[in-house]
Amino acid sequence: MDVAAGLVVEEPLQKAPMVNVVDHLTGEVVATSAPEETLDLDDDVSQLSSSASDGESEDGWETQSLYEDALQFIRDDQLATVPGACTAEEARTYRKRLHTIGKAAFVEETLGRGTITAKKLCTAFGIMPPGFLEGAPDEAYHPLFALGMSREFSRREKLSQYNTIDDAVELLKKSKNIIVLTGAGISTSLGIPDFRSKDTGLYSKLEYLGLSDPQEVFDIELFCEDPSIFYSIAKDILPNEKKFTPTHAFIRLLQDKGKLLTNFTQNIDNVEANAGILPEKLIQCHGSFATASCTKCKHRVAGEEVFNEIRKGQIPLCVVCKEQLQVTSQGMKRKRSSNGLQKKDRKNYEDDDDSSEDGYEIPSPGVMKPDITFFGEDLPDAFGRRLVEHDRDLVDLVIVIGTSLKVAPVAEVPGILPRNIPQLLISRTPVTHIDFDINMLGDCDVVVAELCRRAGWDLDHEMIPEGQKVEVELDEDSVSTHKFNPVIL
Ligand SMILES: [Zn+2]
Repeated sequence: MDVAAGLVVEEPLQKAPMVNVVDHLTGEVVATSAPEETLDLDDDVSQLSSSASDGESEDGWETQSLYEDALQFIRDDQLATVPGACTAEEARTYRKRLHTIGKAAFVEETLGRGTITAKKLCTAFGIMPPGFLEGAPDEAYHPLFALGMSREFSRREKLSQYNTIDDAVELLKKSKNIIVLTGAGISTSLGIPDFRSKDTGLYSKLEYLGLSDPQEVFDIELFCEDPSIFYSIAKDILPNEKKFTPTHAFIRLLQDKGKLLTNFTQNIDNVEANAGILPEKLIQCHGSFATASCTKCKHRVAGEEVFNEIRKGQIPLCVVCKEQLQVTSQGMKRKRSSNGLQKKDRKNYEDDDDSSEDGYEIPSPGVMKPDITFFGEDLPDAFGRRLVEHDRDLVDLVIVIGTSLKVAPVAEVPGILPRNIPQLLISRTPVTHIDFDINMLGDCDVVVAELCRRAGWDLDHEMIPEGQKVEVELDEDSVSTHKFNPVIL
């Protein structure tokens, strides 16, 4: 059990744990187990598209992903090993019942009538009761139960007609409006660290900063208080060259063939731009380094304009604010003939309200911040709008590459699109909480190169070895999971 995740989950439980189940058709809250403090488990897109502008979206985003960190999934064939769990047969029956009568009636019929505990019901939805809840009152399991039920209800069933690599290639060739969802895994071959994962990547470099939680580096409050912390590591995550990977080249190829509907990326490295993905085809769900904005006057510049200072480990300051200050300070000199500009501690750069003892504001230019989404900031709402108002009616294929799809909002996409749209996964590690039609496991650069070779497409990239041979092996437990391995000669 991840200690950090356990702690975060425990906090709301000490207050009253509660569950809001919202009926998506009516928008009504159909079941609530406690009045205040809600864990919103609404998985409908209407929330997605509106949440970016309300003040609570970042809580929902974080709470949900933290819950997911604490979640351990179990398959039906593992239920027998879990004490107090449903049998596989019971689990199937409960899930079927949920789909038959809907969420509200299901909650009423089970927890409402006390026919089964939430703890046991969690196991019917593949959720292992976590160890840290052992001995807690049954209400403590309600949020997990609601999460499991929501997931099950919106779960998309694998389409049985798509299984083989040939099927995948055929889909690539015939599809005209492809959504590509990408994550950190597509940039790691450039040496760009996976900055949100806890054990690997950037976080391990952050211990020396003495942060209690490495995520603090991307905390907007801390940034405003002391931008030097972020800027001490920003150079490590800054895109440094105009490079891109074979996987980015593959997405560009889809665009060139007129097949790319949208590339939704969780990455902030802006490598998509290097590969020539058009801005109108690209949604950077967590923002990017492509632009930077003044935290004071909101003046926005191209990201490159602050890269030099970032590379030197300096804190970039706003030029508009600086100019403004020069004008003001000249005025002040005439009036007061005193120090209009004072050197300030880094910590106070951002403090708008700070004033000197004799009562006037000490002028300081705003700090420039790359337009990546920090924890505590709203996600760009372009994501939900694009998905719901534009893509949902057009998409004919979804390809997920290099992400475990655990973090919202991208994690929601597969459940939001029409069920009959084929969904493919290309990833180093399997994703178990979503049923993809075809799973292609391996280095994504290798997988896309092989897919293109089989499609007869020219994917030219210096990182693809000439005449690369790839072995594809069917996973023995599955009809649609394939492992890709380059043949080392
Ligand atoms: Zn400014």
